[in-house]
Amino acid sequence: MDRYRQLLGFLRPYLPLFLAALGAAVLSSVLEGFTFVLIIPFLRTVFGNTTALPVTGNAVEWVLKHTVGGLMAGSPQAALRNVTFLILASFAVKNAALYGARLGSVTVQERVVRDLRTRLYTHLQGMRLDFFQRTKGGQLLTRMLADTDQLRGLLGDTAASFISSIATVVVYLFILFALSWRLTGLALLLAPFLIFSLRPLLGRLRKGFRITLEERGELTSVMQETVAGVRLVKAYGAEPYERTRFAAAADRYAGGVIRMQRIALLSHPISETFGALLTVVLLWVGAALATGPAASMRPETFITFLAVALRLLTPLKFLASLPSQLQQALAAGERVLEILDLPPAEANAPGTEIARGLEERIAFERVGFAYPGGPPVLEEIAFEARRGEVIAIVGSSGAGKSTLVDLIPRFYEPTEGRIALDGRDLRVFTLRSLRGLLGIVSQETVLFNDTVKANIAYGAVDRYGDAAIEAAARAANAHPFIAGLPKGYDTVLGERGARLSGGERQRIAIARALLRDPPILILDEATSALDSESERLVQEAIDRLLSGRTVFVIAHRLSTVQHASQILVLDRGRIVERGRHEELLAQGGAYHRLYTLQFGARAPAPSSA
Ligand code: ADP
Repeated sequence: MDRYRQLLGFLRPYLPLFLAALGAAVLSSVLEGFTFVLIIPFLRTVFGNTTALPVTGNAVEWVLKHTVGGLMAGSPQAALRNVTFLILASFAVKNAALYGARLGSVTVQERVVRDLRTRLYTHLQGMRLDFFQRTKGGQLLTRMLADTDQLRGLLGDTAASFISSIATVVVYLFILFALSWRLTGLALLLAPFLIFSLRPLLGRLRKGFRITLEERGELTSVMQETVAGVRLVKAYGAEPYERTRFAAAADRYAGGVIRMQRIALLSHPISETFGALLTVVLLWVGAALATGPAASMRPETFITFLAVALRLLTPLKFLASLPSQLQQALAAGERVLEILDLPPAEANAPGTEIARGLEERIAFERVGFAYPGGPPVLEEIAFEARRGEVIAIVGSSGAGKSTLVDLIPRFYEPTEGRIALDGRDLRVFTLRSLRGLLGIVSQETVLFNDTVKANIAYGAVDRYGDAAIEAAARAANAHPFIAGLPKGYDTVLGERGARLSGGERQRIAIARALLRDPPILILDEATSALDSESERLVQEAIDRLLSGRTVFVIAHRLSTVQHASQILVLDRGRIVERGRHEELLAQGGAYHRLYTLQFGARAPAPSSA
């Protein structure tokens, strides 16, 4: 129930609208009851009984007499006209109220779901990098979209229907009791049978819902994986395999839905049959009460009674099904709240100072790092990058190079030692200001489904003018090919837009970093070889990018390491060698081995000094 309260908290901003919708719903059920009761004077007029309503002590008749009694006077034709008009009018108002109520509750629930999604999204943005590496994208998608959808009903519709159903039941029961307490008592005695006959069904339904929810998540996952990995699927000719996998998931989902509907669809015929049974019983007893020598009820009262009693079945059925709906929505709600409950890891040490720039140096001071629950990945990392230096990090795959540079923007925090910017621990700075000093160009150039311009000025389109964007593109050797695109800088890239080659993508990424003009640059050079012309253009762009900045580069290019101020050779999380290219080559150690292997270059034989 705590969870329910937590979820209802999202309703708070919309309470006035919610209450208005509720009021309209109650009004519509009262009016509906009134419309049915109006059948009494209608029938009475039809049967030619236009005498003033007798006051029989019956509350409904009393209400009628004091509201529409006046309209019943006069000729039968006039009375008939008045009553039909009244029924129409009251129907119209009732439906207007119902429309208002539904619209209000749809508005509330959509806004609540929007808020919940936005909150979830904002929360996810605060999660540390490793959360996203651990969690399946498909799973997050499902929680973000499907589960919040499930909640929609719970927060808006179900809450509103619950209250309006109660209102309807109360109003109708009042009318029924007033019409005939004996028949009402009889119906109430029988009603629990309906509810109890549906109960076991509802229990199984709940389980079914849960299973289908999971199966839908599976389906989304398979779909997402194959779309994301389409290149692999095609390259390995795995289409039949993936098709089978998808078909199996789709089949399980369909099977689950059918199994669930097999049960869900039962509730209608059951309650219908039960309703018919109840009607027959009421007809028998009512007929006995309304006819014969000892009649104690007027026929039109009896007919009205039947009509109202049948209408009561709908809200009753809803109330009976409520527990299972609640469970279903709560299960989905829990999945959403589970994520909201995760502490946003980045906020652990948010820092308060503003990092303004790099004056002298960045220093790694005996830095150690381990991923949560994992073995140490970095140990005793100590080095200094003076302003304007290029630090090349080399080493075999898995040595810890990416992890090392990930510590600089504080994607992760060192588990030992510290990293200092001009002598101040990075942790004292706000993430925003720290990351504002950094440009990051990684191997995988991510392009968003947006214009070239927006991709270059990513996240800050309004901050840079067209001229600045073009200048950056020129410096990155990207202007010529961009100008050749169908709409130039306004061409939409990404999924449905123009396709760019590997080298072109890299130059866009470089333009992105050049535009920002950060004092510190983190560069993960692409490993894939480009054709020599492309390579030359990229290399030129990189050279421009490096000049005048402090650079940490995971180096795969020969020219980068040759010109580096300092090369760090990383092996299993430790710095095993350091120095300049020629010095390290001369040592004939780890760097020499790497150099021959990685750069495919023929290394001069180590000097046998
Ligand atoms: P490199 O960039 O040199 O190839 P990485 O920094 O990517 O090396 O990886 C160093 C080690 O850390 C590897 O053993 C890798 O398996 C491990 N590692 C990388 N990322 C994670 C992570 N998110 N969680 C746990 N271990 C990781």
